[in-house]
Amino acid sequence: MKQKVLFIDRDGTIIKETTDEKIDSFNKLVFYPKSIVSLHKIAKKLDFELVMITNQDGLGTSYFPEDTFWPVQNFVVDTFKNEGVTFKEIYIDKTFPKDNAQTRKPNTGLLTSYFSENYDLENSFMIGDRLTDMELAKNFGGKGIFINDKTHLGTNEITIKREELDKHIALETNDWNAIYKFLKVL
Ligand SMILES: [Mg+2]
Repeated sequence: MKQKVLFIDRDGTIIKETTDEKIDSFNKLVFYPKSIVSLHKIAKKLDFELVMITNQDGLGTSYFPEDTFWPVQNFVVDTFKNEGVTFKEIYIDKTFPKDNAQTRKPNTGLLTSYFSENYDLENSFMIGDRLTDMELAKNFGGKGIFINDKTHLGTNEITIKREELDKHIALETNDWNAIYKFLKVL
């Protein structure tokens, strides 16, 4: 049987986004409500491979030194792991929007290994808080789950009209329990 995947954004999705869009200290770390318990249930009861995919603008430059990123990133990953939630892969794009990189969401450059017989991308989802996450879902041929907190929408980075993304969004919510319930009955 082909493997289904949940591609999951980090900031604004499993942890809260910050106004400066850069989580470079523990002071800025807040888990998104119910993300841990809901992903625990998803991992335990449902048959999805879990993959994190995140844009971290300028990571590794003086704008966002690596040593301010990894302690928080490792803590987040370990916290989920301790609750039975293991990300099979973690993809981090470090470019800025102006770079127009193929690896940067909404582009699929980091996901080429999933375009294979082994994966059921049509029944896979991208869970994220930006329209670029929803466009990524369109681009890999799956559906989006849109965590809409009405901020940081990334409207300036999508390459198609906002309305055209609607048909690629399977669920819009800001409640992780609703995401679990939605996936459970597919
Ligand atoms: Mg995000």
